Amino acid sequence: MDNLDLLVDLYVDTPRQGPGSDDATRCALALAGLGGARGLAVADLGCGTGASTLLLARELDATITAVDLLPAFLARLDGAAVAAGLADRIATRCASMDEPGFEDASLDVIWSEGAVYNIGFEHGVRTWRRLLKPGGILAVSELTWLTASRPAELTGFWESQYPEVAAASAKIAVLEAAGYSPIGYFPLPEACWLDGYYRPLAQRLDAFLVRHDHAPAAVAIVEETRREIDLYERFSAYFGYGFYLARRTDEHELERESVDDVWPS
Ligand code: SAH
Repeated sequence: MDNLDLLVDLYVDTPRQGPGSDDATRCALALAGLGGARGLAVADLGCGTGASTLLLARELDATITAVDLLPAFLARLDGAAVAAGLADRIATRCASMDEPGFEDASLDVIWSEGAVYNIGFEHGVRTWRRLLKPGGILAVSELTWLTASRPAELTGFWESQYPEVAAASAKIAVLEAAGYSPIGYFPLPEACWLDGYYRPLAQRLDAFLVRHDHAPAAVAIVEETRREIDLYERFSAYFGYGFYLARRTDEHELERESVDDVWPS
């Protein structure tokens, strides 16, 4: 079994594959102000097994295309969509989120929870902007420093894992420079990490090791996961996930600026 198969095996039955919760997704939806909208075209990029996709399908009048690299996760989402009677609102697509295959200016909403780090936040939001209709909504969650200073051990770990880790103010500046107007930010509550993500994962680790006969690759995954959980338990005051809501800024609002020089087309 290669590493990817091992990761699929560990994660496919977890409720979410990153920090989050239905309440947090609902909170982001409220900030996005999409309540009364009809017939929305939505993409959920890096959807995993689709916890957010299913909630969006329930709460919005929308067709949602859920994109992920891993067919096993998408198959799980397809099954859940049928079971929930939501199959007519959800289409799954196996593709990379940096080339998800949408026409330019075709989407009302791009949603992405705990996934953009795979292609990098700045690259992701710049790549996705042109897929949104002018005025379209971006909702993305991302690893975020919660304080201006923090223990060196923590900074060293996350900067080696994900060099783009930064404070919310810096993430918002990236969004502004990429051609979005920020409309909301909130840090995910601790329960999103512990109840929504780490505890269900931690409960699976022993059986995972047994299932894979303590193979070195499986042991390495478990050690890395335990290290991450330990860091979160010790340092959750300093870092978390931020949920960022932004609107694709319509160039016409800013005619006097030479936007072509500043923004990617
Ligand atoms: N949004 C889900 C999953 C987050 S985990 C949740 O919140 O539960 C990150 C997901 O991104 C995984 O499902 C992984 O398979 C997917 N992924 C990683 N790299 C990707 C890429 N380049 N394109 C699309 N999906 C990717």
